[in-house]
Amino acid sequence: MSSIGENGADFLVVANRLPVDLERLPDGTQRWKHSPGGLVTALEPFLRTHSGAWVGWPGIADAEVDAFEEDGLQLHPVALSASEVADYYEGFSNGTLWPLYHDVVAPPAFHRRWWNAYVRVNQRFADVTAKVAAQGATVWVQDYQLQLVPAMLRELRPDLRIGFFLHIPFPPVELFMQLPWRTEIIRGLLGADLVGFHRPGGAQNFLWLARRLVGLEPSRGAVGVRTRPGVVQVGDRTVRVGAFPISIDSAGLDALARDKEVQKHAKQIREDLGNPKKILLGVDRLDYTKGIDVRLRALHELLADGRVNPGEVTMVQLATPSRERVEHYKQMRGEIEQAVGRINGEFSTVGHPVVHYLHQSVNRRELTAFMTAADVMVVTPVRDGMNLVCKEYVATRYDLGGALVLSEFAGAAAELTSAFLVNPHDLDGVKNALEAALTLDPAEGRRRMRALRRQVLTHDVDRWARSFLDALGTQSTI
Ligand code: UDP
Repeated sequence: MSSIGENGADFLVVANRLPVDLERLPDGTQRWKHSPGGLVTALEPFLRTHSGAWVGWPGIADAEVDAFEEDGLQLHPVALSASEVADYYEGFSNGTLWPLYHDVVAPPAFHRRWWNAYVRVNQRFADVTAKVAAQGATVWVQDYQLQLVPAMLRELRPDLRIGFFLHIPFPPVELFMQLPWRTEIIRGLLGADLVGFHRPGGAQNFLWLARRLVGLEPSRGAVGVRTRPGVVQVGDRTVRVGAFPISIDSAGLDALARDKEVQKHAKQIREDLGNPKKILLGVDRLDYTKGIDVRLRALHELLADGRVNPGEVTMVQLATPSRERVEHYKQMRGEIEQAVGRINGEFSTVGHPVVHYLHQSVNRRELTAFMTAADVMVVTPVRDGMNLVCKEYVATRYDLGGALVLSEFAGAAAELTSAFLVNPHDLDGVKNALEAALTLDPAEGRRRMRALRRQVLTHDVDRWARSFLDALGTQSTI
């Protein structure tokens, strides 16, 4: 790692988190830990070949760290105090926006202190970005934590080309209207040249809100705002709005699943589970939107009805710890663990639990082995912007084995139409789908998996990034 030179970057990603996490060791020293997500993988070619920079929070409070360069990528840390982490991140981002944007599955809390911190932190991100961007640079702002950044940045640097992408659902108008700061958020997003959502429905909602909240506002000096399909006209500036469904590194996962060591590991997992006839798998962050409770309830009833034999079927639920200081999450963890305990209490035998529940994070290789071992992947969110896990499962099944049970309320359902699609609110429907997937005829299973793979392998994260940057009009210049 080296320090940064004076030259500004001409392609910048602005996200809540950096692609590396700062870790504080017990002896008080600090070190960087790599945490490359799908976004880094997708943008790596652009970032490295075009004097790229990433602006983001290093992941721990009160960490004052200088910008540095790693493998040709400039990293610009944005510092947050402990109270800003509580108010901007855990508060407004994850206690207000997250539940509001996920169909108020949990009640959002509205606190002015949280909002004020959100404004302050968004301004800080905009200030850092404005300082390090080269003249005429392209800036791609990511996600719900930073919705005010586009307008703040445009104010500071009108020369920049600014894109914004929302990685979570954009809610129905009636729900968004609950937000006391709804106009400010829409104004913030309208600072971008291109605003992207996963689904056309999100784009429609945004267009309606732009017209309603900003277009008709009679305040003095307001610029005229008009909308037409896919476009908001803000004075003489054009903001394009569209749907760009994100995806995964499909080829990379396909290759990993073919790796001999991964296959050996998958076999070992089956053996460790006692070679059950069928393995059900759930992989989620422990989040109330993911519907982990839905699938546990369905399994419980199937066992109680005698439609699933506990001697033949085992479920593995990997639940990554998440947002553990936020109240809804603490409560939900207790409920899920109770449901697991109840199933195991009633249906397990000594040495053979029906549900294996791991409240742990698993790395990509291990995850691929679990997916390879699983006969049925169960993805039942009550609302999910996209859901990458289901696409990852499909990418790993080069053998055309396995079956996918997928909620209609995941963005991915629009693309993965050959899955067993379920309404997670319809328990009988979920039970029927689980049973159908567990008893699937192999030829029918291969037909479905082939169709799913055709979609996932041809629509990968690289294609997603290119289509967004093309629409932003910068692909040829960066
Ligand atoms: N994931 C992981 N380890 C785990 C669980 C999940 O690496 O133990 C990854 C998973 O492979 C996927 C991402 O975390 O790439 C989760 O993305 P998704 O869109 O499914 O859900 P999110 O957590 O973003 O709501």
